[in-house]
Amino acid sequence: MASRVCLVHYHEVGLKGKNRAHFEHVLMDSIKAACAAFSLSCVTRISGHILVTFSDAASVEPAFEVIRRVPGVARVSLAYHTNRDPEEYGRAAVRALGEAEPFHTFKVSAKRSNTDYPLTSMDLNRQVGEVLCEAFPDKKVQMRDPDAVVNVLVVQGSVYVYARSERGVGGLPVGSAGKVVTLLSSGIDSPVATWMLARRGAVCVPVHFSGRPQTADTSEYLCQDIIERLAPAIQIGRLYVVPFGDAQREISLACPGDLRVIMYRRVMYAVAERIARIEGAKAIVTGESLGQVASQTLENIMAVNEVVDIPVFRPLIGSDKQEIIARAEEIGTYDISCETAPDCCTLFMPRRPETHAKLEAVHEAWECIDHEAMIERLVGAVEYVDFESSSYRPPRMLRAHHDALAPRDASM
Ligand code: ATP
Ligand code: MG
Repeated sequence: MASRVCLVHYHEVGLKGKNRAHFEHVLMDSIKAACAAFSLSCVTRISGHILVTFSDAASVEPAFEVIRRVPGVARVSLAYHTNRDPEEYGRAAVRALGEAEPFHTFKVSAKRSNTDYPLTSMDLNRQVGEVLCEAFPDKKVQMRDPDAVVNVLVVQGSVYVYARSERGVGGLPVGSAGKVVTLLSSGIDSPVATWMLARRGAVCVPVHFSGRPQTADTSEYLCQDIIERLAPAIQIGRLYVVPFGDAQREISLACPGDLRVIMYRRVMYAVAERIARIEGAKAIVTGESLGQVASQTLENIMAVNEVVDIPVFRPLIGSDKQEIIARAEEIGTYDISCETAPDCCTLFMPRRPETHAKLEAVHEAWECIDHEAMIERLVGAVEYVDFESSSYRPPRMLRAHHDALAPRDASM
């Protein structure tokens, strides 16, 4: 009797030469963590694929949908696992092709990873093809561009047969590329930017600036919802929340109105850099897109960027809003981001923010506040919320660690 399994295909992971085994292990750990809610039986490597098996048949379909979303997964196939008895795998092929309905044309694509099997791939194609032609007399075999393909993979002791196969999100497994701090608002862009870095293998540590105590904490809950929506395929272990309302008020009272937003953002970047140092994160990620709003002109990006030494990645810089929205819908964060919540973005906003800030004016405004003390105070007031995650390792001594950090010399 054939059992149902998921066969995971990966591209980029396979390209990593000597590191291949390491990448495969990170990918297997990600898949295990993502499938924790299902009755997982085993996750193991077989001839260039990862095989995922379950003790309960009802788990396979929902797990298939989750695995597709795990970074590093190029494709997942819902396969039948049989022994090497031609009758067994022939029957499995009939069931697999039946799932491809509606279709008119099909072909068989067999591969054997063990040459100890007496039949060649061509023999297998013919043998399984005959069984299928008999079972589906009104369908036609077509070699070029058929509607359905029945894949037969013969490995040591087993055969895997599948026709149902879907693309995964691709990329690299989370945990294979180090750690980044991502600036997460509850808007549309920053969840997408965070997802993109996670898809490239980075462990993402989001930092949210809340308008609290000047506003309610709604935006903080929306950020938590966003993190929960990305799981279980992408597991974020910790959300840092910075109560920023009072500092914004201070800035709004002391600095020229048109430069306020730039001042807020300089402080946000500086605090994020300090958190990155505590976390051992090597970059900051934002959801900025060139020209999208006043603070995202080249001049303003430069005026904000100069307060930090760490690289700042903006994966959406060249993306259109429509493209970003499409991605947000795909990853499931769009509807959460559409809920409005007052956060620090809506607090103390000037009527006419500067769109092309002059650095001299920015530096002058920067000196209107005791920015070092403000940054220090905000870092000391940082709160966090933890989530289930297999890839995130928290810094060992958070408080002790950041007290020991020297404030950055911001004489610029
Ligand atoms: P988003 O949709 O991500 O909120 P946005 O179009 O509203 O972006 P801005 O408000 O200018 O643009 O913010 C640009 C980027 O700055 C955001 O994508 C995010 O990375 C960061 N950011 C903005 N507000 C916050 C916040 N409250 N907490 C953390 N990061 C923020
Ligand atoms: Mg925003």
